[in-house]
Amino acid sequence: MSIAPLIDASVASLRQALDSKQVSSVELATLFLDRIAAHDPALNAFITLDREGALAAARAADARIAAGQAGPLTGIPLAHKDVFCTEGTLTTCGSKMLANFTSPYDAHVVGLLKQAGAVSLGKTNMDEFAMGSSTESSFFGPTRNPWALDCVPGGSSGGSAAAVAARLVPIATGTDTGGSVRQPAAFCGITGIKPTYGLVSRYGMVAYASSLDQGGAFGACAEDCALLLSAMTGFDRRDSTSLDRPPENHAAALRASVADAARPLAGCVIGLPREFFAAGMSAGIRAAVDAALDEYRKLGATTREVSLPNAELAIPAYYVLAPAEASSNLSRFDGVRYGHRAATYADLDDMYCKSRGEGFGAEVQRRILVGTYVLSHGYYDAYYLQAQKLRRLIAEDFRRAFAECDFIAGPTSPVTAWALGAMSGDPVQMYLADIYTTAVNLAGLPALSHPCGFDDAGLPIGLQLIGDYFAESRLLASAHHFQQATDWHQRRPALSQCVPDNIAKTRT
Ligand code: GLN
Repeated sequence: MSIAPLIDASVASLRQALDSKQVSSVELATLFLDRIAAHDPALNAFITLDREGALAAARAADARIAAGQAGPLTGIPLAHKDVFCTEGTLTTCGSKMLANFTSPYDAHVVGLLKQAGAVSLGKTNMDEFAMGSSTESSFFGPTRNPWALDCVPGGSSGGSAAAVAARLVPIATGTDTGGSVRQPAAFCGITGIKPTYGLVSRYGMVAYASSLDQGGAFGACAEDCALLLSAMTGFDRRDSTSLDRPPENHAAALRASVADAARPLAGCVIGLPREFFAAGMSAGIRAAVDAALDEYRKLGATTREVSLPNAELAIPAYYVLAPAEASSNLSRFDGVRYGHRAATYADLDDMYCKSRGEGFGAEVQRRILVGTYVLSHGYYDAYYLQAQKLRRLIAEDFRRAFAECDFIAGPTSPVTAWALGAMSGDPVQMYLADIYTTAVNLAGLPALSHPCGFDDAGLPIGLQLIGDYFAESRLLASAHHFQQATDWHQRRPALSQCVPDNIAKTRT
């Protein structure tokens, strides 16, 4: 029997196929590695492939399965965003600065997934140091959207999102500082969750803005995300913001029986922020979001208007705080200890300047300049402190809203995937596209994006569900019930028709 249909299978089905010996982990890894070889030249979703490492991990997984010691992810192929340190393989962060950096250790998340027996196929493309919303700022060239190769996949975790959407891998990790899991999930027609700040250890996750960064999970459906997220989560003493909480089995929570099977969301109140539904969203997105909300109502949920009066201040606050933290975090890349060092220089200062000038791309340099400016004497009070105050007000808005509802819903992005290059000359325009996602990070809340339709051009649309702190299981269960009743998450891009072999990998 052919194993090719497993390309489209959910993680739970892959688990069954592995446990029933319909397929071995080595065969499964080979199936996906071959698919990457066929399609990644057009998509550029991967920076590094680790065929040898993957096959070795798959052999170990097969032994574990044979010994009856398999966990939910044992033998399941996955990929890591190239922001997670992986011992012995490149960790580039999409930057020339780290283009030759091989990490001596694993990120906590990478270690947990190894222990779970998951099989990493490689590292995925991303905006340089996770700064961007399109994966175009990668030193390794842009990733292309599998639904339309001339469009961006979103960012900054665009490689992971495109890889899962194109079924180059069943599940992948990402990070979300201001939307980088949810927005590429929306642009690529898949599901992505960013958990409550502190649930996923940041140890070994190269820092962008430490108070906002959080690891997250991509999958075709909420159930796949639930399995991955549970395995990624866990206390880590090496991250001072890591939360010590009892482990949660999100997948079990999502399969838990409900009193009224026809109305599994009975009693659930979904808040619709007036500010999210004002002008600014395209007509196609509005229609898809409205239809998805109707579906949620059919499933038993009720909706009510809520207000997030400071939501519009999320972008200015975020684009002060994130660069401020980035300017500090990225000071470690000085040409001395890590990464790129200029070939020739006059003295130490010149070496710093040349190494950083050559190693960082334009967007990263812009963020460092902005960050240094807002932290500098005389501007700190006017910008950085004001932004911190806005952050508190935004968190308060959510606290008030969650007194009236269980979840907050709206579009993930005001637009669908844009054409490659369309926003390259206008960074502020690209920042504004993060309008619905950044407030969530400022407040540290969990949120997911799931597919809910397509626009006129056939590009995917995502619905964002935001929960109160630690509502991951309930968020995933709600999305799961939606996905039991709809098939948006089962739509796949027609890769064979849209992959002309004359699209070569671009390298800037
Ligand atoms: N687009 C946002 C930024 O550029 C968010 C990126 C992210 O979440 N890593 O900062």
